[in-house]
Formats: sequence, structure tokens, C-alpha cells
Amino acid sequence: MSAPVLYLDGVSVVFDGFRALDNLSLVVEPGELRAVIGPNGAGKTTMMDVITGKTRPSAGQVRFRDHDLTRLDEAAIATLGIGRKFQKPTVFDALTVFENLELALKAPRGPLACLRWALSGEARRRVEAVLDETGLSARAQDRAAILSHGQRQWLEIGMLLMQDPELLLVDEPVAGMTDQETEHTAALLRRIAGTRSVVAVEHDLEFVRALGRRVTVLHEGSVLSEGSIDHVQNDPRVVEVYLGR
Ligand code: ADP
Repeated sequence: MSAPVLYLDGVSVVFDGFRALDNLSLVVEPGELRAVIGPNGAGKTTMMDVITGKTRPSAGQVRFRDHDLTRLDEAAIATLGIGRKFQKPTVFDALTVFENLELALKAPRGPLACLRWALSGEARRRVEAVLDETGLSARAQDRAAILSHGQRQWLEIGMLLMQDPELLLVDEPVAGMTDQETEHTAALLRRIAGTRSVVAVEHDLEFVRALGRRVTVLHEGSVLSEGSIDHVQNDPRVVEVYLGR
């Protein structure tokens, strides 16, 4: 069995005596697509903040591959191959889709390596591959300003893919999307997972069902239930605290 990509064990975060995370454990395998759901205040954002180093846990282990993330700051963690997509897209409106993606690609260090890389057409090939992966090829030359809400979100996911992350963290990717856009996003994340691992925090249960993978339900800072969407939706503890049925 391969080692997990992401490993959280016994993680607690305390803000002024309040436990935002309470003995949280989460294991994500290579290529896995994991949905994390839970009511407001369950600790989903704090969990993402702990993984990216924005918040330091007061107890517990947080590992990405062989790296102990509790020993690293946010800037160091950002170089390890963890991409995070926040809810609000940060694309450049004045630039085309192609240019936004090009800009997101980090050129190799050093003028010679950089020149060789530019001449090789490697950057263009990477942009074209990501256009294809995100379904944005037909919009490549359009300015980001005229994209639909969904397309802007996919562009931002594409910008993260340009950096070739091993783990992608996405925060409520389908908020405000049409049903069709939601479906496209589920298909996109399913495509991305496999070569990478994805953790998606989401409220929309239909979307989580469309992802069709393992679901973790958080409540009061720890894991309440874990398994398939059918398993967690029928778990009496989940029904009681989250679904309110
Ligand atoms: P979710 O993303 O699931 O809605 P959060 O992780 O944002 O939950 O918050 C978990 C709990 O921690 C909430 O009760 C929230 O009020 C509290 N919390 C989050 N950040 C802070 C902070 N910086 N200071 C104090 N309390 C916080």
C-alpha cells in the first residue's frame, strides 16, 4: 500500500479557549477525491487553514507526504505542491484565458533555463493541456471578464493545475453555479483526481453525490461520519446534527 498524501491525526486548534478542531483525523490517499461536508462552524475552513499553514494546530500531526507541516510556515508549505482554491476566484479580468494560465506557470530559475524552456514550447503545451482538462479550449482567446461564473471558477482551477500540485484543496467550488455548471465541475474534479489528490469542502449534497467518492462529515471540529454518500446520509448521527430530518 502506498503512503497517504495527507495525514492528519489528533489535530486540535483552540481559539481563545474555543476548540475549532478537536482531535481531528483525516487520511487522504494518492489520487483520492475526498468531499468534506459539515454544518457552518464545523471546522472545515480551519482544517484547510491547518493544511496550508495559515493556522497552527495546538496539538496533533499534520503530514503531506514526508513533510511535517506543523514545522513549516505558510510560504514553505506553498512550495511543496499543495494548491488551494478559495471560493472567490482571483483571475485577471483584462487578460485572456490563455494569458491567465500562462501567467500561473512558474518559469524555471535562471535566465538560460528560462530561455531554453520558452523556446521549447513547453509553456504553450502545458497551457493547452490545462485548457483541454478544464474544458476551456474554445474560450482560450476570450478575456476572463466575459466568462460565466462557472468558467471563471474552472479557469482558477486551471491556474492551480499549471503549478502541477499533488494535492488540490477546493473551497465550495459550486457555490452559485447552475446545475449544468455543477455537473461540469464534478466531472472536472473527478478527472483531476487520479493523477492528483483533491479535497473539496462543500455544502451542496447533490454535488457531493455527483463526485461519488468518499465523504467525511465534520461536526464540532471532529469527524462525525465517513464513507460513501449513502452511508453518511443514512448515519443517524449525521441525520441528527446535519440533515435535520
Ligand atoms: P466552517 O468552515 O466549517 O464553517 P470554521 O472552520 O470557519 O467552520 O470555524 C469553526 C469554528 O471556529 C467556528 O465556531 C468559528 O466561529 C471558530 N473560528 C474560526 N476562526 C476563528 C478565529 N480566528 N478566532 C476565533 N474563532 C474562530
